[in-house]
Amino acid sequence: MRIRLNLECPRCGGSLFLEEDEEKVSVFCNRCGLRVSWRLRDAARRALKNIDGLLIFDWNSVIDELYLELAISS
Ligand SMILES: [Zn+2]
Repeated sequence: MRIRLNLECPRCGGSLFLEEDEEKVSVFCNRCGLRVSWRLRDAARRALKNIDGLLIFDWNSVIDELYLELAISS
């Protein structure tokens, strides 16, 4: 699964993509190759929220944290 994000690469300003497989979730830039990967289990632990008894997967918080890591590592 690959999703184009509505976010710019902190290094080059290119489009960021989100990619998910069985083991990890990655955010990467097609233009300059900047990439950050998380194990899916870690991403889920941070992003799963219990709201009124429903487990909600909050992609926004994953993307926010990945973007922060990109900014720090660049
Ligand atoms: Zn880039």
